[in-house]
Amino acid sequence: MIYADNAATTKMSKTAINAMLPYMDQVYGNPSSLYAFGQESKEAIEDARSRIAGLLNCEPREIIFTSGGSEADNQAIISAARLGEKKGKKHIISSTIEHHAVLHTLNKLKKEGFEVTLIEVEKETGLINPEDVKAAIKPETCLVTIMYANNEIGTIEPISEIGAICKEAGVIFHTDAVQAAGHMKIDVKAENIDMLSVSAHKFHGPKGIGFLYSKKNINLTNIIDGGAQERGKRAGTENIPAIMGMAAAFEEAVNNAEANKAKLLPLRDKLIAGLSEIPHSVINGSIDKRLPGNVNFCFEGIEGESLLLLLDDKGICASSGSACTSGSLDPSHVLLAIGRIHDVAHGSLRLSITEENTEEEIDYIVKATKEVVEYLRNMSPVWRDLISGKREFIL
Ligand SMILES: *Cc1c(COP(=O)(O)O)cnc(C)c1O
Repeated sequence: MIYADNAATTKMSKTAINAMLPYMDQVYGNPSSLYAFGQESKEAIEDARSRIAGLLNCEPREIIFTSGGSEADNQAIISAARLGEKKGKKHIISSTIEHHAVLHTLNKLKKEGFEVTLIEVEKETGLINPEDVKAAIKPETCLVTIMYANNEIGTIEPISEIGAICKEAGVIFHTDAVQAAGHMKIDVKAENIDMLSVSAHKFHGPKGIGFLYSKKNINLTNIIDGGAQERGKRAGTENIPAIMGMAAAFEEAVNNAEANKAKLLPLRDKLIAGLSEIPHSVINGSIDKRLPGNVNFCFEGIEGESLLLLLDDKGICASSGSACTSGSLDPSHVLLAIGRIHDVAHGSLRLSITEENTEEEIDYIVKATKEVVEYLRNMSPVWRDLISGKREFIL
């Protein structure tokens, strides 16, 4: 099997697994218990928090552990909204290409009377122009939430520029950094980030754990109520093994980010070059401001689902921005936002690789994709119309 769907989730690293093991059957006390055995767990959690904070250049108390990226996004947005509405500020700025954890939370707030401005991204690249963010800020704006890097097309957004604009305007800036964290150096102070969401399973850590960095002057709203864990901001007995695994994976990922990138870029670019040879295809997302492991293409005249199933038959795990996987018939909102029309957006393929993929695997993926695209096109009535000139090619 060739695993090329690391934007969906990653294999856990040995370092992360080993960091978790002692906290399953040896140090299993409840961190809220007063006896020394419980306090051992408490100390482990606080050590993990400090190490994570150190890597982001923030204070340990500014890190809240959550069940993952989705919860961190929800808590960040809801918190900023609650703070805003107290001051009569009910306007939020975001973008058209955010993850559903952000977009659906914003939709919920809209029903409560919040106004949401979604900044449109540049066609093809998916880049957000910081000037558009600046122009959208109003006296009523209580939050700007823009993702660090996009999970589908891999575009890395100009976060420090947007951070500087928000700082000057006195507006809270949250970024969903789930795809970026562990893959590049992030400094929340230097980049003027007030809140940042991270998920461990996107950088070889365990699933179901993540954290929210939130600047200490921001009063968080609870998403989960109950006990006084996480300074009263997130109830529930801490998932200590997962927290320890996440801290170890985060350290490993951040410390190796540059080396991994150096290994990845030639593989990614080889994959892009190979797939570009397929006629009537196009790459999605920015070429230069792109995650080192992301490749995303549209192939005209095919369905993404069929492509994925046939690639699966050839042992390749990949993903498509289109529809049926998510139970809806709409193609990816991200591909539509960068200007792909419905039919083209349906024929998309996302391959997300890591430094563990080999050159042989890349060659195999290119060969297999070429074969599968040709096979599907030969069966497709749409392709017949395109070839015969009954329909015009878009790509
Ligand atoms: C995966 C992902 C999430 C959700 O994270 P979970 O830990 O799976 O809840 C949020 N945002 C982005 C950009 C993601 O890629």
